[in-house]
This record gives sequence, structure tokens and C-alpha cells, in this order.
Amino acid sequence: MTHNLESHFCYHCGERLLQKWEDGFSREICPQCGFIHYHQYKVGVAAIIFEDNKLLLLKRNQEPWKDHWYMPAGYVEIEESIEEAVHREVKEEAGFQVEILKFHTMLSYHDDPRGNGLILFYRCQKLGGEFIANEEISDSGFFALDEIPEKIAGAGHRTMIDELIRNGFVHA
Ligand SMILES: [Zn+2]
Repeated sequence: MTHNLESHFCYHCGERLLQKWEDGFSREICPQCGFIHYHQYKVGVAAIIFEDNKLLLLKRNQEPWKDHWYMPAGYVEIEESIEEAVHREVKEEAGFQVEILKFHTMLSYHDDPRGNGLILFYRCQKLGGEFIANEEISDSGFFALDEIPEKIAGAGHRTMIDELIRNGFVHA
């Protein structure tokens, strides 16, 4: 698996970090204070929301994957729980309040220019609210199995949507 390598500076002393490989894994090591920065996955959440056997998708209005569709999703902030992140991202992006029904699955991805990550998918039920186009999202809709747009974002979304399609949108 690949990892984008760029130059960084030490968290502690400001020295430029040296890139090293250990057993095939990338590390950044500070030549001055010895601090080791371990590259780790970013953690994100996404919401699988069905209504009348249609899947909620949002059209991204920013890079990466501008004008591609995906499920409401985003990174988990360090101060919040995973569940709080799900509620926050769905509200921010889709405009909906939801109930979390269950954890669905987790995927890792290596195709996002912002970094490799883990994404945790949760099945959610829409309770209320409405979509308003915003800086991040230009459009929103519920799509039947045979209506899924061609341009789907990466970072686990394409894989997840393909699985949902293979299962015929059976979402018990
Ligand atoms: Zn240092």
C-alpha cells in the first residue's frame, strides 16, 4: 500500500524530520530530539441512509472528488465520540437528524490525496430535517438501485456502494 510522503517538521523542537523506512513502513524521525512520528490512518465515519429502498447520496462540491457522489461522511474530531461524529456529519452535510441503527462495516482506503484512512459505516434512519445546498455539498437525493450515479467518490464509498448494490439494497 502506498503512502504520500512529504517533508514535515518536528512537533517538539521544530527540526526537519527525516523520512525512514522500517520493515516496509514509513516513519519520520527527528535527528535532533529523536521524536518518532508514526504515520497512522485517519478515522472517518459515513452514514448509510435508506428511504423507500433508495440510498441517500450527496454531490461533493469540493476536491477531492468534486462533482462525485458519496454518502454523508467526514473525519472524526478528537473531542467527539464516533456516534457524535455520525450525527454531526449527517446534519452538516445532508441537513438531517438521524437515529443510528447499527454499525455496518469498516473499510480502509488508500486513494485519498488527504491521506490513507479507515472509514466506519453506520446504518442510520432519517428522523427529520431537510437538505440545503452548501459550500461542501451541491446536491442531494435518494437513489434506487438502478439509479446510482456513475461518478462515485473514493475513500471507501465506491466499495461500499458496490457492496450495497450486490446485496440488492437489502439492508436488514
Ligand atoms: Zn525534534
